[in-house]
Amino acid sequence: MTGVPYQEWRSRAERLDPHTGHHIDGAFTDGGGTLPVVSPRDGRVLAEVGDADAATVDRAVAAARRAFDEGPWPRMSPADRGAALLRWADLVERDRDTLALLVSLEMGKPVAEAHGIELRAVVGCLRWYAEAADKQADEAPRTGPDALALVTREPVGVVAAVVPWNFPLTMAAWKLAPALAAGCTAVLKPAEESPLSALRLAALAAEAGLPPGVLNVVNGRGGVAGRALGEHPGVDVLAFTGSTEVGRHFLRYAADSNLKRVWLELGGKSPNIVLPDAPDLDAAADTAAWGIFFNAGEMCTAPSRLLVHRSVAGRVLERVVARAEGMRVGDPLDPATEMGPLVSARHRDRVLAYVDAGHADGARLRAGGSAPEGCYLRPTVFDRVTPAMRIARDEIFGPVLAVLEFDDLDEAVRLANDTDYGLAAAVWTADLSAAHRVSRALRAGTVWVNCYEEGDMSVPFGGMKRSGHGRDKSLHALDKYTDLKTTWIRL
Ligand code: NAP
Ligand code: MG
Repeated sequence: MTGVPYQEWRSRAERLDPHTGHHIDGAFTDGGGTLPVVSPRDGRVLAEVGDADAATVDRAVAAARRAFDEGPWPRMSPADRGAALLRWADLVERDRDTLALLVSLEMGKPVAEAHGIELRAVVGCLRWYAEAADKQADEAPRTGPDALALVTREPVGVVAAVVPWNFPLTMAAWKLAPALAAGCTAVLKPAEESPLSALRLAALAAEAGLPPGVLNVVNGRGGVAGRALGEHPGVDVLAFTGSTEVGRHFLRYAADSNLKRVWLELGGKSPNIVLPDAPDLDAAADTAAWGIFFNAGEMCTAPSRLLVHRSVAGRVLERVVARAEGMRVGDPLDPATEMGPLVSARHRDRVLAYVDAGHADGARLRAGGSAPEGCYLRPTVFDRVTPAMRIARDEIFGPVLAVLEFDDLDEAVRLANDTDYGLAAAVWTADLSAAHRVSRALRAGTVWVNCYEEGDMSVPFGGMKRSGHGRDKSLHALDKYTDLKTTWIRL
């Protein structure tokens, strides 16, 4: 809980005075046109931010390039870089309320969750990589008596990060913190829907003393600004989180330009398997509901396919439906709200089209399915879903659960893996061997046993198959932003 009452959040929202434009080379600047930022809470235009053209993207990349090629950042001791990142984390913590409010207003998640979950993750991530900066060592392999080989990790150069709106600051921090800790410089392009929190993050980086050009933020449309970064010869690594469709574009941009390395964290359609011997069926049902409705279902890891053993399906489903119906959907600034609006009217329409597809394909609606007003949508549950239905195959990215039933473990694993995606999965069972067998058989980057969404900065996160590759978080993420260099010395 934030301790800030509803009325106070509302009056702060009235007084909102966000940064606009872009943040390049240590300062706010205009460039290209402007884009309105519309709050899904009430349709209000919060601000107009920059809509970068290719020339503005060039300026940002040039600033990052200069900061890398000539500036102090890659040349300072890792301990000093870590200290600067720690100062940045402290400022993010100082302004946590404001950042949470910006996130909540721009993309619609409850402000209490923006504060308690998102901002906590961001501060934790910045601190974790700040502290890791000087805790690594290079290698001197035992190559023999007449020569010495050194294997060192060097920063890759300019990193461009293109991120989505669902966890706008967390996704940015997962890229920026390891890249900057490694000594790279960066250009961030937030999603069109969530530029305000990113601009504030950049202002705090400058206040913390990160040298100009080390972190730049360009706003604009994906097809223009995102594409210009993807094709830019001055970008060495492109770190992307978003949809599988746009991930494909980035591989093409790289192939058609300088072969920059592209790291992809993409969509998901994660299976959540409930076996009849689950240690606590009620907890499994509650977690299934919480998992799909958290953040309005706008989660890459959302357990959007509930695979439940036929013998317990009735009991589990009853509880999931009760949870769905009991959820408080409403104003994201009300600390009592459990689910805010979807990110935009366009996205709400896309999700509603899937509700129609569920009906048309013959699934049975058990809860929700309706949009009360504005961008809001009731938590929705379909049962009698079969694997070929669109609601069983496509990533909906909204609060829509598809329930499928199975008769034995092999069928459960087959159903679970019957997807193009491979981001996450879960299994609920008291049988240790079954848990391990299922975990090994599932093609997913993360498998949870008797839990969901468990996570820690020390543990890598990412996907298989069309959910992408590469890992955010943990020391492994540093590999994405460093090159291995070998130096031979004849003795
Ligand atoms: P998106 O449409 O793929 O957009 C992601 C980012 O790419 C945005 O900054 C977007 O900019 C930009 N973009 C769009 N079209 C582009 C193009 N043609 N060229 C270059 N850049 C382009 O995804 P989203 O709707 O923001 O987010 C939802 C998706 O993110 C879901 O698929 C979800 O699963 C995925 N996601 C994955 C993870 C993970 O870790 N695996 C985490 C969170 C979300 P504009 O929006 O400004 O156009
Ligand atoms: Mg978008």
